[in-house]
This record gives sequence, C-alpha cells and structure tokens, in this order.
Amino acid sequence: MPALAASAPTETHCPYCALQCGMALTAANGTNTVESSTGAGLVTVAPRDFPTNRGGLCQKGWTSASVLTAPGRLTRPLLRPHRAAPLRPVSWDVALGHVAHRLRQIQAAHGRDAIAVFGGGGLTNEKAYALGKFARVALGTSQVDYNGRFCMSSAAAAGIRAFGLDRGLPFPVTDLDGADAVVLVGANVAETMPPFTQHLRRAVDNGGLVVVDPRRTATAEQAALHLRPAPGTDLALALGMLHAAVADGHLDHAYITERTTGFDAAWRVAARWWPERAERVTGVAAADQRAAVRILAQAANAYVLTARGAEQHASGVDTASAWINLALALGLPGRVGSGFGCLTGQGNGQGGREHGQKADQLPGYRRIDDPEARAHVAAVWGVDPENLPGPGRSAYELLDSLGTDGGPRALLVFGSNPVVSAPRAGHVAERLAALDLLVVADVVLSETARAADVVLPVTQWAEEDGTLTNLEGRVLLRRRALDPPPGVRTDLDVLHGLAVRLGQPADRFPTDAETVFEELRRASAGGPADYSGVTWERLRAGEQLHWPVPSPGHPGTPRLFLDRFAHPDGRARFAAVDHRGPAEPPDAEYPLHATTGRVLQHYQSGAQTRRVAELVSAAPESFVEVHPDTAARAGLGDGELARVVSRRGSAVARVRHTPTIRQDTVFLPFHFGDDQRANLVTNPALDPTSRMPEFKVCAVRLEPLAGEPRRRRPSDPSEETA
Ligand code: SF4
Repeated sequence: MPALAASAPTETHCPYCALQCGMALTAANGTNTVESSTGAGLVTVAPRDFPTNRGGLCQKGWTSASVLTAPGRLTRPLLRPHRAAPLRPVSWDVALGHVAHRLRQIQAAHGRDAIAVFGGGGLTNEKAYALGKFARVALGTSQVDYNGRFCMSSAAAAGIRAFGLDRGLPFPVTDLDGADAVVLVGANVAETMPPFTQHLRRAVDNGGLVVVDPRRTATAEQAALHLRPAPGTDLALALGMLHAAVADGHLDHAYITERTTGFDAAWRVAARWWPERAERVTGVAAADQRAAVRILAQAANAYVLTARGAEQHASGVDTASAWINLALALGLPGRVGSGFGCLTGQGNGQGGREHGQKADQLPGYRRIDDPEARAHVAAVWGVDPENLPGPGRSAYELLDSLGTDGGPRALLVFGSNPVVSAPRAGHVAERLAALDLLVVADVVLSETARAADVVLPVTQWAEEDGTLTNLEGRVLLRRRALDPPPGVRTDLDVLHGLAVRLGQPADRFPTDAETVFEELRRASAGGPADYSGVTWERLRAGEQLHWPVPSPGHPGTPRLFLDRFAHPDGRARFAAVDHRGPAEPPDAEYPLHATTGRVLQHYQSGAQTRRVAELVSAAPESFVEVHPDTAARAGLGDGELARVVSRRGSAVARVRHTPTIRQDTVFLPFHFGDDQRANLVTNPALDPTSRMPEFKVCAVRLEPLAGEPRRRRPSDPSEETA
C-alpha cells in the first residue's frame, strides 16, 4: 500500500487530459476517499483554482486517485523466458540485465535500427526528453516515435505551415472567456474536458457557438448552430465557408494584405466551392454555412478551434489548413481577443511533441535533419553529431514494420498501449507478436503489456515529480504526493539502468527529474520551443510560463503572433488545399461511415480508467451509436450486441439507438479492449505530410452478434502471471 509522503495537501494536476486541471491531493478524510486493497482510505482529491479549470473537475479527475490503488497495479518486473511461457516475477537486476543482453544481441545481429522505441503523449517532458535521447544515444537507433503521432501531428504540421510554429493554443485558455463567437470543429469538449466549457459561456450566451460534428454531441447541444457534415468532408465544408466569406463580403482585406501571403492561390480553389456545391458533398445546408460565417465575421471577438474530428484523416493537414484559411480570411489569428487554435488531447500532448521522442525531431522542437540543430543537441549530450541517427519511421509505419525483413526486431514501449490505440489494431498485435523482444514499461498490465516478454513496473502521476506543458503551452509542475509502492521505479530510473548496462556513462542519464529538466533547458535553448528560461524554482513559485521562455528573466509568451508570425517574412500563409474525401468511401459491402471518439468516463486506451470502479460502472463496455432506421435495416434492436465489420476486422459493441446521428454514420468509442477495440476496424491510411492515420472515418457494415448479452470487466492481470 502506498504511504503518504506528507499529510499537507499537495498542489498538483490531473493525470489525464491536456487541460491539466489544478487539484490538491491530501490524506483521506474528505468526501472522495479512495479505498485501497486493504480498505483503508488513502487520498482525497480536491479541485483547485487554476486558470484552465477554475475549481472544476470532470468525473475522471474526481476519481483519479483510484488509479493509485488500481486492481492489478504492477509492483514487480515480469519476464517471459520464451513466448509460450507465462510472465513471471523477477528482480529488477534480472529484468534489466535480460533486456540489455537481448538488445545487444539483436543489434549485433541486425544493426542499430533493429531496436525501436515507442513513447507517449502522457509522459512528462523529462521522460519524453530522456526517451528520445536514450534512443538516439544509448541505442543509436533512428526508430523512435510515439502515440502523439496519432493525436496532434496533423494540427502541428498545419500550424507550422500557416504560422511557422506549432503551439496548440497560441493564447491562454482564459482568452476564450471574452469570445462572442467560437467555431468548434470536431471537438466534443463537454465530454472530453468538461471544465473547458466554462470558457465558452459568453459565446453560448451570445448565440455564438457553432459546432461542426457528424454527431449531436453534448457540446453540439449547447450550440446556436450545429453543422453535421458527413465524416471525412470537413475540408469541403471549410472551403464552402471560405467561399461564403468572400461572396458575402466578410473578408478582412487589410489583414490579408498586411499579415498574410497566399490568399489568391487558396481562393482559386475555394472559388470552385460555392456553398451549394459544398452542401452536396457535406450535407450541410448552404444557408447554415453562410450563417456560421456570419456569426464569426460579425463577432467582435471570434475564434476557430479544431480538434481530432477534423485532424485524424488522411487529409488531416489540409483539413486543418482549410480551417486556418477561414480564420485568416476573417483576420482572426495573431490578435488579442480572436484567433485560431487546436485543442490538444493527451496530458502532455504539447510538451510530448517538442522534446525529441518523435521520429523527425530533436529537443526544443528542432528538426533532426537540421545540421545546426544536430550540432547543438549533440554538444549538450556530449556526443559527436555524426553519430546521431537521422529521421526514422512514423508511428504506424514503425508498428507496421515490426518483425518484417528490414524492420525492427525489438520494441521498447513507454506510456503507450498501441494494441488498443493504434489503427488496424489486430494487425499491430500480429506485428508485436512477430518481434524477438517486446518490453513494456507501465503501471498496469495493459493489453500491450500482456503481450510483452518483459514488463517493467513504473511510477505514475502522483508518485513522481515532473513537468508537463498544457494545451495553451504553459509549463506546469506535477508534484509527487505519495511514495510509490515498494518495487516500483520511475521511467527515468529504467532508462538509466538500461543505459548503464548498454555501456553509457552513469551520469549521462540522470534519474532526478529536475536534473533532467536542467539539461532539457539547455537542449531547447534557441529552438522554436525554447524552455531555457523555465526553472522548477519559477514553477514552484507559481509563475505562469508559456513557452517560449528564452531567458531566466523572461516572463514567458502567453500570446504568440501578436506582432508577427514565425515565418521569416513575419506573415501567415494561406494554403491552397482541396477536398479529397475519405480514403475508404462506403460501398455496397460496407455501406456506412464509422467514426470514433471519446466518452466522458474514459481516457484514451482506457488502461487507467477501465480500472476505476466508478467509471467502469458508468461506462462498462463499448457501444455503437446507430440511427434507429439504420439499425432496423441491419436487424438490430436497441441494446443488442452488434459486430461492426470493416475490411480490416470487426469490433463488438452494444447498439445504442441514436435518432440524432446521421443515417449513414455510426460512432464507436475507442477506450475498450479485446474484441471491443474500435481500432480493429479503423483504416491506417496516412496523411502524406503528418503520417496521421485516418481514425475518424472508414467504411463498415453492421451485423447482429449471436449469443447472450454480456457485460465486460477490466482484465485481471493476475491471470497473466504465474
Ligand atoms: S478535464 Fe481533463 S484534466 Fe480536467 S479533470 Fe477532466 S480529465 Fe482531468
């Protein structure tokens, strides 16, 4: 049982999403007592006044302390001596020694790139930094990427293309409080981050909230205008709305002239997308397109915000660009009180994409193919820049190549559960099974850990210190409130232990997070995401530091682009982008669009939230939202089990009759495991620029599932060991 390190409340942040709500953890005797396996109360969670949540928490945040005593919490390393054997507890020395020995063997036989590393957008900045360094220096492999490729890569690429820099929200969340109008594209914040909705109150009250979503979500319920495009047609809708902005006289000509380039080329495409043509493709009435543009254009303070609904497509970068084009045409970005932004999902989805766990990247949001960047970072790391590998495969391409000729033979996974979260998940599981060695560092025996040869039990959230960067680019200190259970180590300890066994100097991979951050500061200095002026001391003192913070006395940069955008000429760039449609349109065999997303109670692959009793009780199993007419055609009654079938596989889900969903579309949440995995059906078609898979649309059919109705429970890790 974890012991309390201190009885005073510890001010920290939620373990889940990028809103990073402020909370305080303290010894139990309040209302939110967490019961340990012995029945003793351990920790209470209390909301804390912090700008992003202002004292609010969602159900996941309120129950987050339960993860600290989750059933099946791993406390000993597990090792499977051969593939047919069960996982068995071993000492840390045996586990790390075995892993290092096998890594050396595999690299000796197959070369450095035979080892791959897969990280996560929930890892702290220090872990993400150390993981990228470990891959490039200790392993010398180019094969490192992370699950943030599945979240933010299209938004990031579009932001860099338009503005020269990617920071999800280039303004504080609280700026949205003054918004008279907000267009939310593919975001269901009322479920994914409920405290965020308080920042939309003025827009809602003014009749200025427009939601673009194929589903009638809880967020759409609050909107003055709900646009329901067919999945995969957001880009056509944005083109129709840009056309309407021009035709109806809403362009900000002075802004376009003074602060942007490329409008004429973008307009040459949009000129062909009069709203009536966009209506035929998207299903959104031309009058509603014009009304949405009018709401934006007539507001004194207006924002366009995108999220995964717009971005998780094989044309995700161009789709995000099309919405940026609309915002630029109306003169919104780079002004106080207006703007464009994308809503980051994972807890450290922002910082996790800045410090080097991405295949093409070095710390500070530097490019790994930039000679100056390589020289700078190599000097910080004390290595020859010539020895740093180049860019590697993107996340899905990496997973797809595992165990193939020329692909990696071993994979180390930190903070990710790709057996559930990767597209075409059945195929990904097969690739993992083809490896010579799979090592997973995790808190619980996730679906991916279950498949591992070695499982390393690591600390979580409230058991360790570290920094994260929230959705507005603010660097936060998440503090240790508890001692970890005996036998558990930090990810930094694991990387240190492996690095030393692989022949690295002991001081090259520190285990103290603040020491790692001090190195990160130097590595990021001068880069686009410059953290050199951020110190833990400043964070402890409560300073609000949004990057870039290029010197110790710098106050941070809450609002970017007010004077100039980050391109050399200081101007934002329109992109001439056109609609392409889904990579896999419906046909006679697979007549429906399937789209995926989150529900209130669960987070990402569900590895944590599926172990919290209150959340499991509220959302125990997967479901599929289907229009009653569509369900009737498939012979499916409300509450029956269905099989959702695509060309790649099928997922089991309980039918939920939903009269508000489009008749051509079904919705699946992606948090559930085993045969309920939504990603058994998703399409790994990749965006050509971001390499983002097309999670948000694929072609499926529905089939009744024979057999008795059943309820699902989280897997019991004890079944996996002997
Ligand atoms: S909105 Fe996000 S950060 Fe806030 S409590 Fe919920 S999951 Fe945690």
